[in-house]
Formats: sequence, C-alpha cells, structure tokens
Amino acid sequence: EAGWLQEKVAEIRRNSAECKFNMKRLRILSDAEKVKQGGGAVLYWMARDQRVQDNWALIYAQQIALQEKLPLHVCFCLVPRYLEATYRQYAFMLRGLQEVAKECSSLDIQFHLLSGEPELTLPDFVERWDVSAVVTDFNPLRLPLQWIERVKEELLPDVPLFQVFIFQPSSGTYFDAFDVYCSQFIFQVDAHNVVPCWETSNKLEYAARTIRGKITKRLSEFLTEFPLKVNWEEVMSSLEVDRSVGEVSWAQAGTAGGMAMLESFIDQRLRLFATERNNPNANALSQLSPWFHSGQISAQRALLEVQRWGKRLSESVAVFTEELLVRRELSDNFCFYNQNYDNINGAYDWAKKTLQDHAKDPRPHLYTKEQLEKAETYDQLWNAAQRQLVIEGKMHGFMRMYWAKKILEWTASPEEAVNISIYLNDRYALDGCDPNGYVGCMWSVCGIHDQGWAERLVFGKVRYMNYAGCKRKFDVGQFEKRYAGK
Ligand code: FAD
Repeated sequence: EAGWLQEKVAEIRRNSAECKFNMKRLRILSDAEKVKQGGGAVLYWMARDQRVQDNWALIYAQQIALQEKLPLHVCFCLVPRYLEATYRQYAFMLRGLQEVAKECSSLDIQFHLLSGEPELTLPDFVERWDVSAVVTDFNPLRLPLQWIERVKEELLPDVPLFQVFIFQPSSGTYFDAFDVYCSQFIFQVDAHNVVPCWETSNKLEYAARTIRGKITKRLSEFLTEFPLKVNWEEVMSSLEVDRSVGEVSWAQAGTAGGMAMLESFIDQRLRLFATERNNPNANALSQLSPWFHSGQISAQRALLEVQRWGKRLSESVAVFTEELLVRRELSDNFCFYNQNYDNINGAYDWAKKTLQDHAKDPRPHLYTKEQLEKAETYDQLWNAAQRQLVIEGKMHGFMRMYWAKKILEWTASPEEAVNISIYLNDRYALDGCDPNGYVGCMWSVCGIHDQGWAERLVFGKVRYMNYAGCKRKFDVGQFEKRYAGK
C-alpha cells in the first residue's frame, strides 16, 4: 500500500512539474479524510475568478482531471443576494459567466450554474456527480470564507477517520502523508493574486512598505507564464517530426481561418469554379482541403453555405458538390473497405493485369525519389508543380493528376510510382495523409474509380496524360514561370 501511495505522489509531482503549476499556489482545505476510492469527477467550484483563460484554479482542476482520467466540471453558485450588490453588478457578472459557459463547452468542460447558497447546492451536486476532488479559488472576504467552511462541514463527515494533513507551505512535501485522490478533498488555489496571499506573509502587514519587498522578492517564482500557453510551445517543441519541411503562410490554421477561406471562395472564386477549375493559372479552387483534412471546418457546413449563397451559380455549385460530396466521400469509402488502399494490390484486376503486361516496357526517363523530390526532371511543368507542392504545401488539383501520372512513367514499376507519389504527397501537402490523397495517387497510377483507355506503353490501359494535353488546356509557360527554379 505504501508503495502505491509513493508512486501516486511521484506522479503528482511529475505532472505538476510538467505543467509548471507551482504547488505553493495551492492549499488543501480538508482536514479529515472520507475514504472514497475512485470517484467520478473533478469539480472546479468557480467563485471569485470568473474566467477560463489564465485561471490557476481551473488549470489545477484540469490537471487532476487529466491525471485521474475523470471528467472536469465547473460550477458557479449563484446566490440570490450578495451584500449590497445590485442588478448592475449581477448583470455584469452574469454576462461574463455566459461567456465562461460558452468557452467551457468549446473545451468539452461541463459548466453548471447552481442556484442557491453553496452549502445548500454543492453537496448535492458533489453527490450526484460522484465528485472526488473539489478545487475552488480564493477570496479573503468573510462571506466566501464562510461558504467554504460550511461546504466543508457538509461534504466531510463529522467524525474524521484520522488527521491527515499538516500544512508545510515552504517544504513542498505535504503530499507525502496521504493520497489526495482517494478522498473527497477540497483544494483552494489563489487564482487572484500573483503571489498567493498565504505565501506572501503569514501575518497581518502594517502597510505597503512592509509587504512590498515580500511580494517583489517572490516574483521570479510566481510571475510566470500560464501553463496552457506554455504547453502549446512545449508540445510544438516536443514533436519528433522532420522540421525541415516548415509551416506555410497562406493558410491560417483553425476554424476561423477555414471559415474565412470559405467566405472568400464564395465571394470571389465560386463563380469561376465550373469553367476555370482545371486551369492552374486561375484562382478558381476553394483551397479548403487543409481545413477539411484536419477537420477544422466541416464539409457539410461548406456545402450548406455554398448552396445557400451560390443560387445564381448553379453550374459551379453542382461541380463543387460533385467534388466535395461525391469524390471526397468516395475516397473514404475506398479506404474504409479496401485494406490495400495505398498499394497496387488494391487496384482492379484489369488495371493490375494491364500494368503487369507493360512492366517490362522501355522507360526512357527514369528518376530516383531524390531527383523527383528536388524537381530535377526534364519536364519544366512537372518541376514547377513539384516546387509548388514543396513551397506552398499544396499543388493545384489538375496538376496533381499530371504529376502522379508522370511518376508512373518515370519510375521502374507501378509499385514504386505509388510509393513515391504517396511519400511526396504526404510529406509536403498540407492536406496529405488523407483518404483523398491515397485515392488520388491510386487513381493516377492504377486507375482506381476509372475505366480502361486506349492501350499504350508503360501505362497500358490506365488513363494517360501528357504535356501536349496540358498545353491545349492552359498557358503552361505561365505556370512554369511562376514556379521556376533558381
Ligand atoms: P476544390 O477543387 O476546391 O474541391 C473542394 C473539395 O472537394 C476539396 O477540398 C476536397 O475535399 C474535395 N475534392 C476535390 N477534388 C477531389 C478529388 N479528386 N477526390 C476527392 N475529393 C476531392 N485531396 C486531399 O484532400 N488531400 C490529398 O492529399 C490529396 N492528394 C491528391 C493526390 C493526387 C495525386 C490527386 C490526383 C489528387 C489528390 N487530392 C487530394 C484530391 C484533390 O486534388 C484535392 O482535394 C484538391 O486539389 C484540393 O484543393 P481544393 O480544396 O482547392 O479543392
């Protein structure tokens, strides 16, 4: 049993260190243990610090919840009267709480507005949700302190099993004596002051001059960045991925960025979609695939908005719907039902056979993966497309087809062509590692979802594309110039 406890303590310490939560911000208010193994939830009883961001009490509650894999709830007890407060203050507070509730729901945290005195409402709540740890914030005023005392009395039994806690603020070793998570505990975090009130001084200070030094000398310890922000940087820097392929500037990550791109598509590009979508020099595509890929915006939302605002552009809306709805969902279908979605075994029999029949065909130009990656082919149009992919993280949809088909022509086997095209696509495309990408490469190299065409060298009956065909469709020179190498 002792080993189990020590392990828990070590885990708590490790996690606290990782999230840079200084344990001195915390006081443990319970003075008796009601043994209660497990428990179903962690509760942040928000009182004084009515915000989601930069709130140490919430951060701590979240930490316990994550560690114990329990849901986190936030509640606020709305008392019908508070000292001399009027509608003016109440309205200000409630409008703020509305925002808190919204923000909580976006973070998957349940927010509850409890109506009534805390000692009347909280114990019921704690029982109903099987709460094992309550975290609250700090308010030095009489009434809030009384609330905490009364809640404590209600939550913890009159007969303590044993005395568990001796507060040692400076030693930082106060967890050694017990396991905080097997009990119904109340924690208090001073989320209001920079230096926690109990840390600054253990006595009544006479004046600013007597407290000033006590506060300022602790600033290096407490005036720290909040861990939620720091954590993102840490997460970024902890990634074990290849950093030589960097971020791109044209696509602003997140839902807001995606919605702005959708708006600009509807306003400016949708009208060109039907006629110009296969012209890589025109700005006619939605550019939305990175946001769809990462789920930052919903395809359903995009479809609804395009249909709503594109009533006078029926042809464009129809073509866009075909791409976004039919083609995209066909890709999911292919990957879901075909285990070989990213290799030649996933091709139709006719395609496998025809590619096999032409396996030994002469291939006048053979390039290695490295040459292709560096855009070192004789074909300036292909090189330009490859550079667009490397530089911008996205290749024009029409060029993607040409690009992958050329890889089939220039590599020793269709297997190699599938592998290289997937490798380059997944490595450089912001929308890579997506069913659409696997299907796109498989369509190009081995005719998935396509039919047989006139037979020719290397490709067999798989659809062929060439430079002359591109020249007929758009100004090839313009595209080559735009992405010309050094
Ligand atoms: P738009 O033309 O504006 O189309 C809107 C949306 O419809 C796209 O965002 C996409 O979700 C869907 N869509 C469009 N074309 C297709 C298609 N052919 N198949 C399935 N869905 C489609 N798409 C990816 O999302 N990720 C990839 O990694 C990817 N790799 C591809 C690789 C190759 C070799 C090929 C031929 C195609 C690939 N595609 C991929 C499909 C298509 O080219 C892209 O979805 C499109 O270029 C994305 O740009 P957009 O958002 O401006 O598209």
